[in-house]
Amino acid sequence: MLIDSCDLEVFTPPCEPGAERFAARARLKAPITDVLPYLNATLRGAVYNPAAGALTWKKAGHNIAFHAYEIATSNVEDREAAVQELRGLVDLVNRSWERRAEITPDLETHQRPTPMAVYKLLPRTNCKACGEPTCFTFALRLAAAQAEVEACPELFEPAQAQNLAELRSMLIDAPSIG
Ligand code: SF4
Repeated sequence: MLIDSCDLEVFTPPCEPGAERFAARARLKAPITDVLPYLNATLRGAVYNPAAGALTWKKAGHNIAFHAYEIATSNVEDREAAVQELRGLVDLVNRSWERRAEITPDLETHQRPTPMAVYKLLPRTNCKACGEPTCFTFALRLAAAQAEVEACPELFEPAQAQNLAELRSMLIDAPSIG
């Protein structure tokens, strides 16, 4: 196990005193730098910075950062959710490390696609079937890894096959670690 203990801290970001969102961090006793290429290979939308020894990731609107001795999350709705999320991230690191023989590590930095690049590959009918008011709003969520292409039924029409393939490639539709 890579992380066998850590200190958890939950707080309101200093720039937002009294805000109703929470940030949290786990301070680690041993570095997790070696697991970052494995997370980079499996977390959709992750941005890995090898020089800084850091990896950032967005999940459900939360901003998550993995550093050598710290895992942090922000923009979480309540304290308990922040603690639960951190515990889940610690588990994710440990599971990834245990499964590293099955994962090809990825040392490259993948930039997130821009919303406009994503939008250009959507059907652009603004049909709202995805639950968003416009295709551009859906593009914003896809680019931020807050939505999945499966939410847009029109993308699965035969005429959209090429665009769907390009979108999947652009969004690095790698399987997440379960
Ligand atoms: S379901 Fe697809 S086509 Fe319809 S609004 Fe959403 S992104 Fe656009």
